[in-house]
Amino acid sequence: LLEVNAVAKSYGALQVLTEINFAVPTGQAVGIVGPNGAGKSTLLSVINGTERATAGSVLFDGCDVTDLGPEVRARAGMGRTFQIPRPFTHLTVFENALSGASYGAGLYGKAADEQALHALELSGMLDLANTPAGKLPLLARKRLELARALATRPRLLLLDEIAGGLTEAECDSLVETIAGLHASGITIIWIEHVVKALLAVVDRLVCLASGTLIADGQPDAVMSSTEVRRVYLGSGI
Ligand code: ATP
Ligand code: MG
Repeated sequence: LLEVNAVAKSYGALQVLTEINFAVPTGQAVGIVGPNGAGKSTLLSVINGTERATAGSVLFDGCDVTDLGPEVRARAGMGRTFQIPRPFTHLTVFENALSGASYGAGLYGKAADEQALHALELSGMLDLANTPAGKLPLLARKRLELARALATRPRLLLLDEIAGGLTEAECDSLVETIAGLHASGITIIWIEHVVKALLAVVDRLVCLASGTLIADGQPDAVMSSTEVRRVYLGSGI
């Protein structure tokens, strides 16, 4: 479904990503781990078009989307959550989901309403549909971020640190939701520092360090590989 070919990204003189290559087949859930500043969020941005790659290409469904913006990629089926959730705080939960349905799926009127409600149901937010988004506790804010991405009707769902800051029980409930999305066939790329949450869902793990993929494969094998252990030495992960 997705192909990232020799992607590099620099901000001026700062090279953040170097020669990233990986492909994700339909239905797979891939976890991305790596230290702070490794370039994980930047990689997600290059995939969904929030940032342009400096070199290399991104293919989605066999089409070269490298030069296309995030809105076109959303319409093509890429949904994304952001590391720092940015809900429209003056709107209700339902209205926030609705914004995803029109932005990413191009829906209006009744079809948009239905898609927004479906996204709220999938993300466990239906009960809070009429709550102002500015008044949500953290777990609900995370779920709303998920709902907005799901309202775009994604085939590829990109998650950026959605489990951070939650209690263990909250994290478990969110993991259950994401596992359900994976089981329904949505392809997922999920960046997460809470490795335990990732390992409960993903089929495959990649590790990014200093802008380079240093490991890619079966999750347990990646976590116990020498390269990954060296990167996390002393960090307690
Ligand atoms: P974290 O785990 O802390 O979220 P990350 O792996 O997601 O880290 P990125 O946010 O991708 O890391 O950042 C990688 C590097 O790129 C960092 O050194 C960061 O300061 C730099 N960077 C990110 N965005 C920009 C930008 N818009 N302009 C300049 N530098 C940036
Ligand atoms: Mg990040």
